[in-house]
Amino acid sequence: MDKPRRIWVNTLLFSLTFVAAVTLVPWYGFQYGFSSSDWLIAGLFLIFNGTAITAGYHRLWSHKAYEAHWSMRLWFAVWGAMATQNSIMHWTSGHRRHHTFVDDYDKDPYSASRGFWFSHIGWMLKEYDPKANDFSNIKDLKRDPIVVWQHRFYLPLVLATNIGFPLLAGLMTGNIVAALLLAGVLRLVLSHHFTFFINSLAHIWGKRPFTDKNTARDNGVLALLTWGEGYHNFHHIFQYDYRNGIRWWHYDPTKWIIYFGSKVGLTKGLRKVSHYRIEKARIDMQFKYASEKLTCQQALQTLEEQYQAISQTWHEWSNVRQKWMVLKKQELKQNWETSDIHTQYEELKSLLQEQQKQWQLARAGLLT
Ligand SMILES: [Zn+2]
Ligand SMILES: [Zn+2]
Repeated sequence: MDKPRRIWVNTLLFSLTFVAAVTLVPWYGFQYGFSSSDWLIAGLFLIFNGTAITAGYHRLWSHKAYEAHWSMRLWFAVWGAMATQNSIMHWTSGHRRHHTFVDDYDKDPYSASRGFWFSHIGWMLKEYDPKANDFSNIKDLKRDPIVVWQHRFYLPLVLATNIGFPLLAGLMTGNIVAALLLAGVLRLVLSHHFTFFINSLAHIWGKRPFTDKNTARDNGVLALLTWGEGYHNFHHIFQYDYRNGIRWWHYDPTKWIIYFGSKVGLTKGLRKVSHYRIEKARIDMQFKYASEKLTCQQALQTLEEQYQAISQTWHEWSNVRQKWMVLKKQELKQNWETSDIHTQYEELKSLLQEQQKQWQLARAGLLT
C-alpha cells in the first residue's frame, strides 16, 4: 500500500495556529494586556463554535437525536464552519463510520486503537481515510438545503467567519489586534482541541459503566471542556439519545440547549432512551465487574440470583412496552388507561424499581 500523503492545509493550519496561540498571544498579553471585553467576545465565540459542533454537527446531523428549526440549523452551520472542522457533510459521514466501526484499526477514521496522537489530531494530517469523500452514509442529510449550502461554500464561510467576526469584534472593542489574537487565534485552537479530546481522551480516560465492547469512556472532567460530550461511554451505546449526561446534574450544556430549544419551538422530537434500558445496561456491567472481583462463591451466587430476577423482569417489561408501542402506532381507540397491558406495564415497572433498589443494596453490601 502507498504511504498516505500529507494534507498540507491541515498540517499548516493546526501547527501555525497552535504556535501563534502559545507565543504571540501571551507575548501580546504581557506587553499590552487584553481587556475584559476582548476575553468576553473570545469566550462567546468559543461557546458558539463548540456548541454548533456538539448540538449541531454531532447530535442533530450525525445522530438525528432531535429536529431543529431552520434558523437554528443555519446558526449551527455558520458557527460550525467557523470552528473549522470541515463541512457538516464530511464531519457527519466520518462520525457515523466512527460509531459503526468504533476502534477498528482501518475502518474507524479516528480509531482510538491507533493511539492518543492519531485519534486526537494525527488522523487529519495525512490521507489515511480512503472513504473521506464517500457520502453514501449521509444520504438523508443531502435533503437538508442548509447542509448542502454549507458544504458548497465551506471555504468562503471559514474565511469570512474566522477573519470577519474577529475583525468586527475588534472594531467594536477598538482593539483589532487583540480581537484577532484572542477571538481569532486562541479561540480557534481551544475550540479545535476541546473537540479533539472527545476522539482521543474520551476513548482513553474514564469509566465504562454501560458497555465494555468499545473504548469509549464516561468522564465528568472531560464533559466540562467538551460542552457535555464527556459521557462518551453512554453515548456510544445509546447514540440516538439527545443527552450524553443523563442525570439532571450531569454537566451537559448541549443537552440543555436542545431541551430549552424545545420549550421555545426551536427543537422538537427529542429522542430519549428509556430509563429501564439504561439501567439494564448499567446492571449488566455491574454484574460483569462484580463477577470478576468477587471471590466468595456464596456472595456471587446471591448477586447472580438477583441479576437473573432483574433480567427476567426487564425482559417482560420490554415485551409489554413493545406491545404498547404497537397499540399506539395502530392508534386503537381503546382506552389505554384501563387496558390489561397498561396494568401489566405499571406492575412490571414497580417490580423493576424494587428489584433495582435491592440490587444496589446487595451489590454495595457484597463488594465492601
Ligand atoms: Zn467516540
Ligand atoms: Zn456520536
